[in-house]
Amino acid sequence: MKFADLHMHTNFSDGTFTPEELAERARDAGLHTLALTDHDTVEGCERMGAACRQLGIELINASEVTSEIDGHEIHLLGYFLDIHNSRLLENLRRFQAVRQNRIREMAAALQRAGIPLAAETVFELAGCKAPGRPHVARALVMEGHVKSLGAAFDKYLKQGRVAWVPKFRIGAPEAIELIHHAGGLAVMAHPGLNKTDKVIPMMIEAGLDGIECIHSRHSYNDIERYETLAERHGLVVTGGSDCHGLNRGKPLIGSIKLPYSYVDRMKERLAERRERVAA
Ligand code: AMP
Ligand code: ZN
Ligand code: FE
Ligand code: FE
Repeated sequence: MKFADLHMHTNFSDGTFTPEELAERARDAGLHTLALTDHDTVEGCERMGAACRQLGIELINASEVTSEIDGHEIHLLGYFLDIHNSRLLENLRRFQAVRQNRIREMAAALQRAGIPLAAETVFELAGCKAPGRPHVARALVMEGHVKSLGAAFDKYLKQGRVAWVPKFRIGAPEAIELIHHAGGLAVMAHPGLNKTDKVIPMMIEAGLDGIECIHSRHSYNDIERYETLAERHGLVVTGGSDCHGLNRGKPLIGSIKLPYSYVDRMKERLAERRERVAA
C-alpha cells in the first residue's frame, strides 16, 4: 500500500521543520507521496523536491493561498503548480510583501500597548518571506512576554485583540483562476475549520476542483459530510495532516495516511483539465 499526506508546512512559512527534516519524518511515517503547501509561497518546493528524491518520496508542488469569498477566509490549496509560472510568482511576491507589512503593523500595535517587540525580531526568527501570526507568537514567547503560543494568540493576536491586523486576501475566484493558470488543481482546504459550507456553491461556480475532506482536525462527521458533497458535485477528495512541525506539541505528520488512489484521482482530474485547456 502507498500512502500520501497532501497538506504540510515547513519553515518556508509557519512550520518549524526544514524541508529535509520534514522529508525524513515523512519517510519514517511510511509516506510515499507528499504535497508541500506552505502559505502563500512555493519557495520551499525546490529544496523539498531534492530532499524527497533522496528518500524515494514523490513530491507534489503546491501552496496554500489565503483567499476570501463573501467576507469569509478560504484557504485554497493549489496542487501540481508550475512553480516557475511568472504570474503565480508575481502574485505570491505581492502576498508576501503584504504579510511583511502586516508584521510591522502588529509590532507597532504591540508597542502602543506597551509590549516592546521589534518587527525585525520577528523577521529574524521567521527567516522566511511569508511570515504570519505564529512567528509573532514565537517572538513573544522568546522575549518572555507570554508563556506559550496559545497565550500569545489569546492575549494579543486573535481577532479583536490589540495586535490583530486583518490579512490581505485575494478573491477566491481570482485565486482559483491563478492556480489554473499555473497548471494546478484548486482545492478548498479544511472547510470544517472555517465553518463556511454556505460558500461552497460559489466556490464550485468559480471552478473549484476539490475539497480537502480529510484533515487532522476534521471530525468523522465533517469527513462524511464533505465526501458526500464532493461526490454530489463531481469534485476530487483530498486530505492531509496540516503538519506545522513542533508548533503545537506533537508533529501531525503521519496522522493522516491517504491511500494512493486519491492521488491517482487528482492526476486524472488534472489530465482532464489540461486536455480541456489544450482543446
Ligand atoms: P496568519 O496566517 O498569520 O493569520 O496565522 C494563522 C495561523 O496561525 C494558522 O495557520 C494557525 O496555524 C495559527 N493559529 C491560529 N490560531 C491559533 C491559536 N489560537 N494558537 C496557536 N496557533 C494558532
Ligand atoms: Zn499555518
Ligand atoms: Fe489553512
Ligand atoms: Fe495549512
